[in-house]
Amino acid sequence: MDVDAASFARTVLNWYRRYGRHDLPWQQQDAYRVWLSEIMLQQTQVSTVIPYYQNFIERFPNLGQLADADIDEVLQYWQGLGYYARARNLHKAARVVRDEHNGRFPRTFDAVAALPGIGRSTAGAILSFAFGQCWPILDGNVKRVLARCFRVPGWYGQSDTMKQLWYLAESVTPEQQAPDFNQAMMDLGSMVCLKSKPKCEACPLKKLCSSYLHHSQAEYPQRKPSRAKPHKHTLMLLHRHGDQILLWRRPPSGIWGGLWSLPEVDDEHAIELWQQSFLSMAQTQRVIQDSVIRHQFTHYSLDISLAIIEMEQLPEQVSDEENYVWVDIEALANHGLPTPVRKLLTTLQD
Ligand code: SF4
Repeated sequence: MDVDAASFARTVLNWYRRYGRHDLPWQQQDAYRVWLSEIMLQQTQVSTVIPYYQNFIERFPNLGQLADADIDEVLQYWQGLGYYARARNLHKAARVVRDEHNGRFPRTFDAVAALPGIGRSTAGAILSFAFGQCWPILDGNVKRVLARCFRVPGWYGQSDTMKQLWYLAESVTPEQQAPDFNQAMMDLGSMVCLKSKPKCEACPLKKLCSSYLHHSQAEYPQRKPSRAKPHKHTLMLLHRHGDQILLWRRPPSGIWGGLWSLPEVDDEHAIELWQQSFLSMAQTQRVIQDSVIRHQFTHYSLDISLAIIEMEQLPEQVSDEENYVWVDIEALANHGLPTPVRKLLTTLQD
């Protein structure tokens, strides 16, 4: 590294004092709120997070109330934010803190990093923002700033690249003022060193930034050579009886884990078998609507077709009744549903 770490930190901190964000709702708050914000901010932008954060805090104002809540309700408050494993881990971690740390958020790196859903960067951010400790962080914004400033080769999935980025993050984070420095680096990444078209002319680091000086900003961070996104298809079953529809609770892991959704089969031929297995009846009156929604996941796209099945009567029983429920369509808001499924049902309601 051929940049003076102290001058790097000073430059970033001076910029932060004037241009950084000082009034985010989770700043200068207790560890619970800092932790919640850090989890919500993983993979989600600040402007999207703010209303979710505020609703969540209103319903679960402290860690004890989150730990005591039912996971279904937690998921309901998370719906729309995506990456639902974050909510399940948050809830699990709240219970670990309640049961194993007497309800007090731990203050050591190892104890924080041992909580579900908390990696090295998130642990550093929580300890830094909540307790003023000096830990480096490496979220997406910080990685981008460092990768460009120091022209770090490789992509984030490569361990050598990550080792170098962590080394740089440790080197430039000042002992004093680590919380401000960490916030400043995140702000720089999200406000100035943008993914495409970084605003280099307005950047305080331009005199120190190696990729700026070499006119190679667009080459960093390097991207993993891309493969075409696979394409998947599913057929969702909308069983309807008057105003009631049948919902299915998805397994806790995997996409939309733990959320309520519609039962799914691979194709039309599997519908009858599914009905015999789960509803002990066969019902043949149905309308299939092909590929009504395409949803993009990070690693693949999913086409959802819909089979609308009008039931003349409700079945006497549903197998696996813990994970199936008949719900009045007006009461859907009480269930955490994946966004595309909610959209689909809202369209049908309209
Ligand atoms: S000079 Fe440009 S590329 Fe370098 S850190 Fe600043 S915004 Fe990013």
